[in-house]
Amino acid sequence: MPRKHVNGKAARPPAERDSKVCPVCGLPFSWRRKWERDWDNVRYCSDRCRAAAKRQEQQRPS
Ligand SMILES: [Zn+2]
Repeated sequence: MPRKHVNGKAARPPAERDSKVCPVCGLPFSWRRKWERDWDNVRYCSDRCRAAAKRQEQQRPS
């Protein structure tokens, strides 16, 4: 029998529920409910990565 797109991945959720790639660890992460109001601003997969990115910004190479 033909098997195509049975896993529900064909029907993509709305754009808000897209996924992004974390620039710190390079891993893709997907929309989470806690980010529902803030998804446009979310750039990192976790607080840890966000903190790491901030720390790197602050440490200026001499
Ligand atoms: Zn990350």
